[in-house]
Amino acid sequence: MKFVVVTGGVISGLGKGIVTASIGKILQSRGLRVTAIKIDPYLNVDAGTMNPFEHGEIFVTDDGGEIDQDMGHYERFLNQNLTKEHNITTGQIYWEVIQAERRGDYLGKTVQIIPHVTDAIKNRIRRVAKACDVDVCLVEIGGTVGDIEAMPFLEAVRQLRLEEGPNNVIFIHVTLVPSLDVVGEQKTKPTQHSVKELREAGITPDLILCRCKQPLTEEARRKISLFCNVPEGSVFSDVDVENIYEIPLMLDAQGLGEKILERLGLRGSSSDLSEWRRLVEKVKKARRKIRVAMVGKYVRIADTYLSINEALKHAAAFLGVRVDIRWIEAERLEAGELSLLDPFDGVLVPGGFGRRGTEGKILSIKYARRRKVPFLGLCFGFQLAVVEFARNVLKLKNANSTEIDPNTPHPVIDLLPEQKQVREKGGTMRLGAHEIVIKKGTIAHRIYGSELIRERHRHRYEVNPSYIPRIESAGLKFSGTSPDGRRMEILELPNHPFFLGTQFHPEFTSRLEKPSPVFVAFLQSCLEHKKS
Ligand code: GLN
Repeated sequence: MKFVVVTGGVISGLGKGIVTASIGKILQSRGLRVTAIKIDPYLNVDAGTMNPFEHGEIFVTDDGGEIDQDMGHYERFLNQNLTKEHNITTGQIYWEVIQAERRGDYLGKTVQIIPHVTDAIKNRIRRVAKACDVDVCLVEIGGTVGDIEAMPFLEAVRQLRLEEGPNNVIFIHVTLVPSLDVVGEQKTKPTQHSVKELREAGITPDLILCRCKQPLTEEARRKISLFCNVPEGSVFSDVDVENIYEIPLMLDAQGLGEKILERLGLRGSSSDLSEWRRLVEKVKKARRKIRVAMVGKYVRIADTYLSINEALKHAAAFLGVRVDIRWIEAERLEAGELSLLDPFDGVLVPGGFGRRGTEGKILSIKYARRRKVPFLGLCFGFQLAVVEFARNVLKLKNANSTEIDPNTPHPVIDLLPEQKQVREKGGTMRLGAHEIVIKKGTIAHRIYGSELIRERHRHRYEVNPSYIPRIESAGLKFSGTSPDGRRMEILELPNHPFFLGTQFHPEFTSRLEKPSPVFVAFLQSCLEHKKS
């Protein structure tokens, strides 16, 4: 088993997750079996209780893990399903060590960070890698070298190299090489300092990847090589690109794949990124543009709905069009600015929690339904489409979800029965992949081409069964349900170009090489009903 450990220096937000995923793709393209682990040095057990507006999207795995968004990049680039075991946090490791201590596993000993915590980290890494039966396991350490929280993890991977041997564990350090605008000169000092910091933790990088605006100049490369003690041929440029899917191509063109194989003493087949390249080129060449309005609260942070953005891009690549995604602040619609939606070819209401902005989202759904604009509602968006229909078609005044209004006279969306006793917030939603039965002859059936699908979930509320007959007799169709028929999973409107909602999150399983059929159908309809 070989390990490639990726660390980051200088600043956070360098796109280390995408680099790690790209390395995985490059190795995969040479016929190697690859998997990836993300280490998040925070104390949370998982990302499920974090605020996505601060931390970015909470990605959901098949097995119900609520994890860091980088895992989404790994899945999308490797075209592979990972499990929650692939995301290691300080919280999980300490939890495990403390439980072992209470059981008496360390009887007579003083329990310490070295060796007990570091052993627990190494065991977990080895266990995951072994269970996947791969040639190479990538391990990305989140945060920036020098963070106190990351120290035990750096120490653990240092030991891993000692134990497994230098040909079996290599270190790749991702740093920033800024250029000063005035003279345009590339500055290597931050990289030098961060490598120095890494060395203090006992780790010498084998390769250095420098995030930069332009490819590294000869001079910058020479300096980094000299001061950081790595050969010039081991310093790579991670140049800013427009489309993240270009990154594996850009790094591979510099010979990164060969270099990694050489350091690990591995032989791969010749690189085959042709299908990947074809898709990336198709996006580049696309001319026709589709404009999609995403309606949400606090719309500023693009990372909050990362997987939806990516899923739209995958569908656009498949159809050979460009997608222009614009955020519309739901509260502005509440203030009467509905015409904000006029320029768009489609409306998308994504998942969410809490009251803020819900009335604006409901207005956008009404707009799309009445004006026959293609509409896609995901999770909360699905639930609010039911609320909108109940209020404006069934005339159930003040119908709502009990999440938003616990005293609504018409709780068309209500807590799942098994949620009623739940008190703890962490890991207690209805999570992960569940089967969905699709009714024949429906739009959903045409989209999926199947009567049985599996999609990922993350919710506490659902359509209240006592309202289903009334809703359906008024024309809204629930075309997908849980296999026992109790839970409504997909809704659609027959006499509309495209009006579809899903209780699940199709965005989590969309890949460049295998776009989600829901997003393809949505964009296809936007294209057909394009205004100009
Ligand atoms: N807040 C809703 C629920 O808990 C929707 C969740 C979501 O959109 N992920 O059911």
